[in-house]
Amino acid sequence: MLMPMKDILIHAQKNDYAVVAANCNNEDTVRACIEAAVENRSPIILNIGYGANCMQYDHKLGKLVGDNFDDVPELMVFFGRMCEYLADKADVPVAINLDHGAEFAHAIWAIRSGYTSIMIDRSMLPFEENVAQVKELVKIAHAVNVSVEAELGHVGWGSRYETDRDAHLTDPDEAAEFVRLTGCDALAVAIGTAHGEYNQTPYIDFERLEKIRAAVDVPLVLHGGSGTGKENLYKAARSGICKVNIGTDLYKAGAKAWNDEKCEFAGNGYILAKRGYKNCLISYMEILGSCGRY
Ligand SMILES: [Zn+2]
Repeated sequence: MLMPMKDILIHAQKNDYAVVAANCNNEDTVRACIEAAVENRSPIILNIGYGANCMQYDHKLGKLVGDNFDDVPELMVFFGRMCEYLADKADVPVAINLDHGAEFAHAIWAIRSGYTSIMIDRSMLPFEENVAQVKELVKIAHAVNVSVEAELGHVGWGSRYETDRDAHLTDPDEAAEFVRLTGCDALAVAIGTAHGEYNQTPYIDFERLEKIRAAVDVPLVLHGGSGTGKENLYKAARSGICKVNIGTDLYKAGAKAWNDEKCEFAGNGYILAKRGYKNCLISYMEILGSCGRY
């Protein structure tokens, strides 16, 4: 069943586990998420970036580009309806979340597309500006029962881990003030994880997480779950983190399954990729403790 993300995260918070927010970019990945959730009696969050529906191969540049946003709203509504349809048929909780909403219009399009949550990422703006923009969207989203995730501190990139790691860690007191001022439903925190692939082993500041948890009421979110390590994630999920974003590892597992496994009909590669993605997702659900909850 389709639910506001807030309801899913509150259940996780009360019961000391975390839910995977799995990056999805096509029907196969959405179906993999929902099948994994239903088969394992786990909640799931479909995590969809604004540009996820518009990745195109640019022949002139010879690479994939994701910033051709002209057709996004139409594609987003289409994709959102598909997610809604599949989520409604599932008998476990499913939320559809806009990942890293960067502009006001992106958030509004997500709400129009049936998303039950929007993440508003203004983490690189000064504190007051971050508060003002999140607060405005909280008012709009809450009016139609859509949840809001915000970010304080800033989670950078694993490829620049040495410089990004300590640059914008979340301050516990500021976090408490931020949540009070904005009324957001969930808060993404910077405690040592990074997006993409790490160029070294990540080290997580669990002491900081403990302080943030003590200061903040709302469920906490960890971005950059891929490559963070089983032990770190296991511990984080029992220390106040209620949502863990996973993208890179799922996509890599899908690509590996397609490449490694033999199939007689080439078109079945998609099925193998979906299975690889799904199996990887289930292993993360097990680490985070979300299986058997519904
Ligand atoms: Zn992120």
